[in-house]
Amino acid sequence: MKLFDQFARNISYLRVSVTDRCDLRCVYCMKEKMTFLPKNEILTLEEIERLCDNFIELGVKKIRLTGGEPLIRKDIIKLIKKLNNKKNNTNLKEITITTNGTLLEKYALDLKENGIDRINISLDTINKEKYKKITRFGNLEKVLKGINEALKNNIKVKINTVAMKDFNEDEFEELIIWADKLNIDITFIEVMPMEETDNDRHMQFLPLNEVYNNLDKKFSFYKIDKNTGGPAKYFKSNKISINVGFITPITNNFCANCNRVRLSSTGKLYMCLGQNDYVDFRNILRNDHS
Ligand code: SAM
Ligand code: SF4
Repeated sequence: MKLFDQFARNISYLRVSVTDRCDLRCVYCMKEKMTFLPKNEILTLEEIERLCDNFIELGVKKIRLTGGEPLIRKDIIKLIKKLNNKKNNTNLKEITITTNGTLLEKYALDLKENGIDRINISLDTINKEKYKKITRFGNLEKVLKGINEALKNNIKVKINTVAMKDFNEDEFEELIIWADKLNIDITFIEVMPMEETDNDRHMQFLPLNEVYNNLDKKFSFYKIDKNTGGPAKYFKSNKISINVGFITPITNNFCANCNRVRLSSTGKLYMCLGQNDYVDFRNILRNDHS
């Protein structure tokens, strides 16, 4: 059986938030003083696994673990191990994570040993002071060590960089050249308005078509056909060997090709990032006495 949404899009990709907590406080994502949810409101690892089983049965082939910060969830490696075992006898083909990278030095080997071959790391700057500013107190050195450890363990890394006006717009070329030296792809993301922050996002918004046009002068990009079912458009250049992606949730609509749904840490299934409609699976799970 396959899972389709009301627009007949086949859902094969599930994004699972395993926690609402984080060890950083990126200004575009969280408030400085966050009140996180009580533990009993967050799905247990067993509940997450049970929901994943159901989605895999319905045709989900790829699961991405995210958060908050997925690597701070206690026993996350145990969950990954269990999910990885399902690759042997189900439709599940791939498990990936999106992480801020602060704990990668510690976990890269565990991740690799438990079937994680690709990860996305969020990094908006390679300037130590700017990193501290955007994450409010993060240590860039830790993340860079984490990236090295991941690469050492043969995990394919992709960098996600949120593009912000007057913050990192002067750094994109340098970031691409840095990523190219490490042979890791990089994707730029338009900053989206979020309620849970104390920043005025309009001050920070930077349309990526502007960023693309500026970078294109240096790199002479050509588009490549790399359909991940996701929102990114990818480009190559004869001057570098990596792929450079652009995700434009604000200036460009990418809904028609979407193949993904999102499960929040409290068990709410969202069909779309841009909409607030959801199905509450925690209620269903916790009231199921069968
Ligand atoms: N903590 C992990 C990390 O930072 O990679 C995973 C969760 S984080 C919410 C997932 C991604 O969302 C990160 O790449 C982050 O940069 C991005 N993000 C968070 N807030 C955003 C916003 N307001 N606009 C655009 N991207 C955002
Ligand atoms: Fe944490 Fe990721 Fe949000 Fe930054 S973007 S505060 S690392 S969850």
